[in-house]
Amino acid sequence: MKKCSLCSNSTVGDELAFLFIGQEGDEKEICPICKKNMDILQESENPDRIKEAINYLHACSLSSDDEEVVAFIEDIINANGSVANELESERIKSESEHSHAGSFWITGMKVFAWIAFFGISIAGLFFATQVGNQNTGMGVLIFLASLIVAFLSIAILMIFLNMARDLSEIKNFLQNRRK
Ligand SMILES: [Zn+2]
Repeated sequence: MKKCSLCSNSTVGDELAFLFIGQEGDEKEICPICKKNMDILQESENPDRIKEAINYLHACSLSSDDEEVVAFIEDIINANGSVANELESERIKSESEHSHAGSFWITGMKVFAWIAFFGISIAGLFFATQVGNQNTGMGVLIFLASLIVAFLSIAILMIFLNMARDLSEIKNFLQNRRK
């Protein structure tokens, strides 16, 4: 059995895969594991998988004593390293756009909650002075009731908004960890 020309550990499988033909016409054959990593480099659009494959091939080149193979791997790594970085910066960009969209709505709702709070208070005060002209006790009661309603509605809204913000932070955290 021939040894893999990349990792030089495992033997070349039945499915022959050529890396390239050397200067002296010798075939550089690779094992299925190395073939898989070469395929990832050429086809994958996932920056993490590309980086893993680059790391794998880099480790192979360190242990290889075939100068042609080492030079070939270096070329591949140089060509694909920038692709991985581009894909990653694209991903980071789209992620931050995504989370900004979420916090925009949460911030908007908080502003709305404060407007609602003052709206209800002012409407209550207005109504209370109308009633208060005839019945002062009733006017004060209506004003206090409107304050309580305003406070409760903003409090409930704020609790939900904080929960929504926490959830989106937890979601981002879990997504980043999975990648
Ligand atoms: Zn191999």
